[in-house]
Amino acid sequence: MHWSTITLLFLFGGIACHLWWRSRYKQQAKVIECLRRDHDQLKKERNEIRKEVDSQQNALFDSMVEGVLLLDGKGFIKHANQAILTLFNLDTESVLGRTIMESLRLHELESMLNFLEHKNQIMGAEVKVPGQEDSQLEVNAVSIKDNNGVHTGFIMVFHDLTRIRKLENTRREFVANASHELRTPLSMIKGYVETLLDGAKDDPQAIKRFLPTIAKHTDRLTHVVEDLLSLSRLESERDTLELSDVNLSDIFAEISDELAPKATNQKIDIYNQLDTALSLQADEARLRQVFFNLLENAVKYSGEGRQVTVSGKQIREGFLEICVADNGNGIPLHALDRIFERFYRVDKSRSRESGDTGLGLAIVKHIIQLHGGTVWCESTMGEGAKFYFTINANLETTKPDSPEG
Ligand code: ADP
Repeated sequence: MHWSTITLLFLFGGIACHLWWRSRYKQQAKVIECLRRDHDQLKKERNEIRKEVDSQQNALFDSMVEGVLLLDGKGFIKHANQAILTLFNLDTESVLGRTIMESLRLHELESMLNFLEHKNQIMGAEVKVPGQEDSQLEVNAVSIKDNNGVHTGFIMVFHDLTRIRKLENTRREFVANASHELRTPLSMIKGYVETLLDGAKDDPQAIKRFLPTIAKHTDRLTHVVEDLLSLSRLESERDTLELSDVNLSDIFAEISDELAPKATNQKIDIYNQLDTALSLQADEARLRQVFFNLLENAVKYSGEGRQVTVSGKQIREGFLEICVADNGNGIPLHALDRIFERFYRVDKSRSRESGDTGLGLAIVKHIIQLHGGTVWCESTMGEGAKFYFTINANLETTKPDSPEG
């Protein structure tokens, strides 16, 4: 064969090989490109799924009433839900990436985490929010482990017990006060009855002296029990107001007639400045009790020769404001918020001696709350006391906020 033919054959062979390799290379490059695109797509989808899971987890944590903290294995905070930020009055920046000590300043919890790191148990503690002495939080914490049992972080859940503890205290105080109020007249009655049984029953003079005292303490006992029953009914029968058209001026006239003997006795004048047209939808019997308690207090506490005035006005669409004012001795500033508490009296000895129960204003507060209103007192010592209450005049259904007091 001629050299030139051989050379040509090689040349064509070479070109054919090159073209074959090139097309193969291009195919492979295409495959690699496809794989890379798939990989990127997968990575993107995985990131999106992770983001979705994270946001669902955050939404779940943020919707929880309990505070939740997630910490990494070294004790740095990775996640804090909205409830914990609100509880401690913090923002995300002051919490994320910090330790418990740095962010919440609670060394009890820091020691709890140190202890839990090597344990497989849930641990609980009660702490207070720094600077808020009346707060009470229950904290439960646990160490998170991976599949091999290696510690990877912590989860802490905070329950706010402040309100429950306050209610427990209120209940405890109430039971103690109620027992005290009942025990005092009971022990007086018991004492007098025993004295009579021990022989005084044969002495007509002693009987004359003792029986009225026994009757007085029995009345006092009856008053306390009746007022306690009123309060308990007001707390339990929240939706049972018997509404009807009530004219305030008419109620006032009836109550001031009832109190006239006491007022005359004390030389106290009672003035009616209520518009005769002032009427509303209310539970008449209960509203009468409000007027009675406030007017009776004004007569009882203002002192001889004073004046008591009742006035009222519409303050906004459908709401009335009523004021029972006297120009008596007044109420000291420190007692103004407390007089609506059950059994609170400014002058304890005087009040008990006169047979008052200390429950009158608590009953007023509950009734007004049931009527969708509020009650408060303004007073300057030596100038008198003004009791105000607002009331929803067009009440249809009653949806009270939980009355306490
Ligand atoms: P009480 O049965 O002792 O009257 P209340 O709940 O009606 O109980 O009143 C609580 C306390 O508020 C009273 O003991 C009294 O010290 C004070 N108070 C109420 N109304 C007046 C008033 N108009 N002027 C002065 N003090 C008052």
